[in-house]
Amino acid sequence: MTSAAAANRELDVVIVGAGFAGLYMLHRAHELGLQAEAIERGDGVGGTWYWNRYPGARCDVPSMEYSFGFDHDLEQEWEWTEKYATQSEILSYIEHIADRFNLRDDVTLSTTVESCRFDESSGRWSVATSDGIDRCARFVVMATGCLSAANVPDIEGRDGFGGRTFHTGRWPHEGVDFSGRRVAVIGTGSSAVQSIPFIAAEADRLTVFQRTATWAVPAHNEPLDPAVVAEIKADYAAWRETARDSSSAFGGYYPRREVSALDADDAELAGQFDERWEVGGLSFLRAYNDLLLDEQANATAADYIRSKIAELVHDPGTAALLSPDTIVGCKRLCVDTDYYATYNRPNVRLIDVSSDPVERIDATGIVVDGVVHAVDDIVFATGFDAMTGALDRIAIEGRGGRSLRDAWSAGPLTYLGLQIAGFPNLFTITGPGSPSVLTNMIASIEQHVEWIIDAIETLDAGGMSTIEASDEAQAQWVGHVNEVANHTVFHGCSSWYLGANVPGKPRVFMPLPGFPEYRAVCDEVVADGYRGFVRT
Ligand code: NAP
Repeated sequence: MTSAAAANRELDVVIVGAGFAGLYMLHRAHELGLQAEAIERGDGVGGTWYWNRYPGARCDVPSMEYSFGFDHDLEQEWEWTEKYATQSEILSYIEHIADRFNLRDDVTLSTTVESCRFDESSGRWSVATSDGIDRCARFVVMATGCLSAANVPDIEGRDGFGGRTFHTGRWPHEGVDFSGRRVAVIGTGSSAVQSIPFIAAEADRLTVFQRTATWAVPAHNEPLDPAVVAEIKADYAAWRETARDSSSAFGGYYPRREVSALDADDAELAGQFDERWEVGGLSFLRAYNDLLLDEQANATAADYIRSKIAELVHDPGTAALLSPDTIVGCKRLCVDTDYYATYNRPNVRLIDVSSDPVERIDATGIVVDGVVHAVDDIVFATGFDAMTGALDRIAIEGRGGRSLRDAWSAGPLTYLGLQIAGFPNLFTITGPGSPSVLTNMIASIEQHVEWIIDAIETLDAGGMSTIEASDEAQAQWVGHVNEVANHTVFHGCSSWYLGANVPGKPRVFMPLPGFPEYRAVCDEVVADGYRGFVRT
């Protein structure tokens, strides 16, 4: 779209973001004949997969599942090469989606949405953007991603560091050459676990600063077997539907066994966990049905992984430091390739900053407990202001000029993770209060986009103009999300699911466990005439 054509544009829908969610929303809006525009901060489409280009970046959901199922020809024609796709392969897929469904003309790149304000008299949203063009739309759809606002800790002296600094979620497109360099990685979450083996292989020296030891299981990535692909594609829709019936909306290869770990004896546990370890990936947590529900059951998996770390890491002191004493899966379980073995390299050192935090950064390096660890480069693998961070960076005002920042000052409040009371015609794709990050995101995105499109279509067909979550329905929903989360192990650690990784962020468990139950509620709400929504 040319700037001139877009000037002061009247639209049906403004979509914020052009990753998987924004592009699918745009495609479905086109099909419905709506005037829609997706506004994207990056210089290209792709969202998460546009920004996260750190070495070793891959998805931890198998590629045959981490892909759209809405178009039969697309899923039949697209060929993934590996069990777990690389960032670049996923980005190629997203670029293909943009071209295949003729989306690019309605995507405005390199443009930041600064504010969205609801005008009660016209019932329309005014959207202000960094390109200075005013958009006015009936609907705003936030396709801003759950892990898109980078979290760089405010460590004293950070900006006075004399070397290079990087954040894994803002990686330079041209790549980074670490040869001959002394590199520090701060953080040991999924991004660190994936990038550390690559950085260690290239750098002169690597020092990893670990605040909390992480749990990681091997990926055992491999080229896709054409016979397996053919078998899946023979009835892809049914395969995906089975996956959608599982709690995390994926697990087609190795579904959850509906057996309690507490009923298994030691030999049986070892056999099961060995089998899952060999298969690799997040299926490990599906060995038993109560690993994420019961701490005692969870401890069986914890003991097993700790025994593996002791086997894989030669130095007992380092192995002990790498062995978590937390609940497995309470923070997102990491999926690795050679993470633990990397600590056997002579050029890699692990510094424990659990009790003595990083004190400051000076011009030459990182200071812990009065000791300067001199480095040339610092990689912040320090994660994201998850789920609410991207929304918080936009000045969003609903009815009566009420800002979303105020409405969410004690933590996010939504109805179904789709709408917020007081913010009519504004939708969040995979918002807080929906299963989102606990699922295969593509399955969640498809379900949300389709729900939103149906809601708009029904509204238009009924001659109505606004849809808005009621306060009561929202309060009830937030209570429900807390209740469900309270029956899991997720409250047992300081995770980004709880907002605990960002200083000052309210501690509220943001996603909702259980995709099939959630999907059923969304369908029931519609069947019940959009129960809990006020439509005018
Ligand atoms: P993360 O899981 O939030 O990890 C951040 C790491 O930085 C943690 O180890 C954290 O320690 C540490 N940290 C933060 N501030 C620190 C400080 N001031 N001093 C020392 N350490 C500090 O972030 P992430 O690794 O980027 O992953 C975020 C999510 O993105 C994942 O959970 C996953 O959902 C997704 N992801 C997926 C993939 C994949 O598909 N394979 C890859 C990357 C990311 P604490 O634990 O003590 O807070």
